[in-house]
Amino acid sequence: MKLIFEKSVPGRTGVSMGAADESVLKSIGDRYLRATDSGLPEVSELDVVRHYLRLSQLNFSVDTHFYPLGSCTMKYNPKVNEAVSSLPGFAGLHPYLAYIDEGSVQGSLELIHTLSSFLAEITGMAGVTTQPYAGAHGELAGILLMAAYHRSRGNKKRVVIVPDEAHGTNPASAAMGGYDVVSIPVNSGGGMDLERFREAMNDEVAGVMLTLPNTLGMFHPEIREIVEMARKHDALLYNDGANLNAILGKARPGDIGFDIVHMNLHKTFSTPHGGGGPGAGVVAVSEKLVDFLPTPVVARADDGKFYLDFSLKNSIGSLASFFGNFAVLVRAAVYIMMLGREGLIDVSEKAVLNANYIRVKLAPYYDLPYNRTCMHECVFSARRQVRKSGVHAIDIAKALIERGFHPPTIYFPLVVDEALMIEPTETESKETIDAFIDAMIDIANLADTDPGRLKNAPNNTPVSRPDETRAARELKLTWNP
Ligand SMILES: *Cc1c(COP(=O)(O)O)cnc(C)c1O
Repeated sequence: MKLIFEKSVPGRTGVSMGAADESVLKSIGDRYLRATDSGLPEVSELDVVRHYLRLSQLNFSVDTHFYPLGSCTMKYNPKVNEAVSSLPGFAGLHPYLAYIDEGSVQGSLELIHTLSSFLAEITGMAGVTTQPYAGAHGELAGILLMAAYHRSRGNKKRVVIVPDEAHGTNPASAAMGGYDVVSIPVNSGGGMDLERFREAMNDEVAGVMLTLPNTLGMFHPEIREIVEMARKHDALLYNDGANLNAILGKARPGDIGFDIVHMNLHKTFSTPHGGGGPGAGVVAVSEKLVDFLPTPVVARADDGKFYLDFSLKNSIGSLASFFGNFAVLVRAAVYIMMLGREGLIDVSEKAVLNANYIRVKLAPYYDLPYNRTCMHECVFSARRQVRKSGVHAIDIAKALIERGFHPPTIYFPLVVDEALMIEPTETESKETIDAFIDAMIDIANLADTDPGRLKNAPNNTPVSRPDETRAARELKLTWNP
């Protein structure tokens, strides 16, 4: 593929600017004038259009390819959500207006208020903050809420318990909040080892952070016992609910006994994400934590007007400029309104059905370390292929790219060796999922018969196997002639 600079032909132009007016040039002054030879490529408009369109098509995206990236919920985002969030009244609004003239932004405040009440209902919680910009930011918010709660009660606690199969951000967030992290190993059923948990539980424990469903795609069957044991020691229960897609309309974290839950609106409630943003890690809390939420929250006065409420007595302060990523909030509100109650239930049923379909269909070909009914994702291991023919999870991922599929998450969760973590989501057709299953079976067969073919994949991309560490550390975003 020739880069745009290499397509340059002397004298070729895209847009003609006309000759510069001498008097204008004089008035600018020499030191502000750029050199006549700028080194820019000389190309036609058509060259430019084709170059950039072709570059954009080299990417994988949900709009172009099946994207079963485990723990990321890369579902299709309906375009109506995009259209509404781009309406000038939303997109062109400066959030500071809400601080100086609430009356002029009632619609946007109502949207935040309505979305917050939807999310409180979906999670079974009492209060919501929309401020955090991402899931991990929501976790930090949750940990700060936890710390403020214990401080207010004079509790001296320094430990947060995080099971091994939690998302990697959980222990990091607890540590950033100043806690010591105690991790609990996974049991043979893919849940937390209850014996070890019981041993670790004491009055020093501030909270228990559970990813539910966890990164093995499993629902903790012993969740009631875990909640009870934590309660005995006045430890708060934190639910990493980034994977709410699996339990929407089926189970509510608040009913289960959680005190804090963060949701990734950019996963479950529609927003194209990846590559670092944008996101919204909205946090919902139980009654006893409402008073600690970040301010402002959007409240409704008796006369029906919406306003910014700064009055929460024990607020941990502000976590974001204004209200978080507002356009993500708009998309989520539209998504929930379009689907309604029945639609949301249907989302989680289909997401779970699709994951279990893949789990059962691929079980003869790949090892399944935790083989029971899963939730929204299933985790295979390539260790059988490694043992037999030296084919690793990375080779399988690369072979999928060659076949037109975005790879699943690999080498995560860490508790599964050679992990292949597949999350199909609810928005894919049976035909697409079957084509993916066929590709996975084809790859498993090749691993047996001709493993060398997999070692060189992908053969149909401009770059086949970059040095991933170097590509990330020495990212080159510009091209110099
Ligand atoms: C994605 C994810 C996170 C982190 O969310 P970010 O928005 O990427 O910060 C945390 N926990 C779980 C279970 C996730 O899947």
